[in-house]
Amino acid sequence: MTPPVEEARRRSASDYRFGKVLGEGSFSTVYLAKDIHTNKEYAIKVLEKAHIIREKKSEYVMREKEVLRILGSSCPYFVRLYWTFQDSEHLYFVLTYAKNGELLKQIDKCGCFTIECARYYAAEMVLALEYLHGKGIVHRDLKPENVLFDENWHILITDFGSAKILKTDNTENQKCDNDALDKGDKRRRTSFVGTAQFVSPEMLSESSSSPASDLWALGCIIYQMVSGVMPFRGRSEFLIFQKILNLEYEYPDGFDPQAKDLVQKLLVKNPIERLGATDEAPYTSIRFVEGNLILKQGLIDKKKGLFARRRMFLLTFGPHLYYVDPVAMVLKGEIPWSEDLRSEAKNFKTFFIHTPNRKYYLEDPEGYALQWCKAIDEVKAYYHPEQ
Ligand code: ATP
Repeated sequence: MTPPVEEARRRSASDYRFGKVLGEGSFSTVYLAKDIHTNKEYAIKVLEKAHIIREKKSEYVMREKEVLRILGSSCPYFVRLYWTFQDSEHLYFVLTYAKNGELLKQIDKCGCFTIECARYYAAEMVLALEYLHGKGIVHRDLKPENVLFDENWHILITDFGSAKILKTDNTENQKCDNDALDKGDKRRRTSFVGTAQFVSPEMLSESSSSPASDLWALGCIIYQMVSGVMPFRGRSEFLIFQKILNLEYEYPDGFDPQAKDLVQKLLVKNPIERLGATDEAPYTSIRFVEGNLILKQGLIDKKKGLFARRRMFLLTFGPHLYYVDPVAMVLKGEIPWSEDLRSEAKNFKTFFIHTPNRKYYLEDPEGYALQWCKAIDEVKAYYHPEQ
C-alpha cells in the first residue's frame, strides 16, 4: 500500500517527469507529471513560497494540506494527497490526477445533464459530503469547478484551501473553528470571484458556516446540473448576494419535479432546516465501517473445517474486508489486507481469498462469487497499481 504522507521516503521533483500545465490557480500551477519509477500519472500542484508569503496565504496552504491528510485514502470521492515536498523556492503537492477535468466543463459542454446523470453525481456528492462532514470538515467552497472527474468518471472533490476544520480526527472535542480566522480576512470574504453564486445566506449575513453550508452549495450544483444555469445570477456580486439573501430564484419550465423537490429542500435559508443538516451518525454507519466507505456488502458463509458461519462481508476503501455478525451487528474481524491478498473463484458460489498466512473458504449463497472476486480485484488495482 502507498505509505501515508508522513512516512513516505523523501521525495523530490526529480522523482517526476513534468508534463503539460493542467491549470493555474491564483497562487499555484498544476502540472501533469509522471512518477519516473512507476510511470503513474499525478497532478502536481506547485506553489511559489515567496508568492504565498507575499499574499499572506500560508494559512490556506497549510489548511489544504491538513484537510487532505485527514481525508487520506478512505473515501474515493476526494483528490488524494500522495506526497508533499519542497525545495528552496517551491512547495509541491502530489495529487490524484483528475483525467476528465471539471464538472463545470462537462455541464457547459452538454448544456445540462440528463436527470439520470444528475441523480448519479448528486448521489456521489452526498456520499462525499457525508464522509467529509463525518470527519468534522466543511468544504465551504463547493462549486462545479471544484468537482473533478477521475478516469472512470467518478467525482474527485478538490480545493480545500477555504475548508473549515471543526475538530481534529481523533480529539472529538478539540474545536478548531477557523470561521474566526477568516473573519479577519475580509478581502477574501468579499472577493468570492466566480463563487459568489454558491455562497450560503448564513455565510453572507453572519460570516458563519457549518456542514449545512455545503448542503446549500449542493442544492445550487444540482440545480445547475439539471438546468444548465446557476440558480442565483446577476450582473454584479452585490445583486447575486441580494438574491441569495432573499431566496430569489426560479425554476425553468420543464425542470424535473423530483429534482425540484430536492433542491427546494436544500435551498432553505435556515441552515438547520436543510435536508440532511441534522442527520445522525447511525445513518452514516450503514455506509461506513470505521470511517471507510463500503464498496460491496453481502452475506457470506465463512467456512472453517466442517463448520460454516454466516457473516456480513464488507469490502471497503482503506482497503479492508470486514466481517460482521449479521444478527448482533457486531464487527467480528477482518481478512488482513496486503499486496499479496488474492481472490480465486471456484464456481458461482464458492471462492477463496488467499492471504500469506491463511486461505479463506467462502461461499456466497446467492451465487455472486465472481462479483466478489471482481470487486476485490478492482480494489487491489486501485491500491496496488504497480502489480
Ligand atoms: P484558486 O487558487 O485561485 O482558488 P484553484 O483552486 O482552481 O484556484 P488550483 O488548485 O491550483 O487552483 O488548480 C488550478 C487548476 O488546475 C484547476 O482549475 C484545475 O483545472 C486544475 N487542477 C487542479 N487540480 C487538479 C487535479 N488533481 N487533476 C487535474 N487537474 C487539476
